[in-house]
Amino acid sequence: MGFFSYECKRCGRSILNVHGVEGGALNEWMREAVAVEENGTILKGTYDGYGRVNDHDLSDEPAVWHLACWELAGKPTEYPGPSGGASDQGWFYDEGDYDIRDPRLEEKPACGGAYTLEVEVSFTEGELSSAEEAEELEFLEREIRTHLSDVLRMRVSKLGVGSWKKTT
Ligand SMILES: [Zn+2]
Repeated sequence: MGFFSYECKRCGRSILNVHGVEGGALNEWMREAVAVEENGTILKGTYDGYGRVNDHDLSDEPAVWHLACWELAGKPTEYPGPSGGASDQGWFYDEGDYDIRDPRLEEKPACGGAYTLEVEVSFTEGELSSAEEAEELEFLEREIRTHLSDVLRMRVSKLGVGSWKKTT
């Protein structure tokens, strides 16, 4: 495998390989990158581990941020010089090394902080198989996570008959 990656210009941590980070994971934000190239080109998207952001090849010495870090840095558009290479290649890191919350949540103006959301869903009995119900619940959880970035803990569970329950 020839994976490689970059150190974020703001936080110094690796831009993570999209293939190594599951959607909905705590560190999902670390696979979203912004690259500013020497010629002024700006690319945004997921990082694929092979020097491509959103399927576009980066130039030789791009400046790269996590999208979150780039936003917190004031969305710079000037090329500040190249990012260093990531020693873990954005891939070869130990479990837990990047259990880091999205810094946009940390630095938001205080409004009570992160909250827990509990959602209960009811299904018409017999309409879906339990596997389909589980899939529906996971889909719902993903959707909620996508649209409500403040939610850090979530419980999506089935209401009524049955014992299926998912807690994140
Ligand atoms: Zn960063």
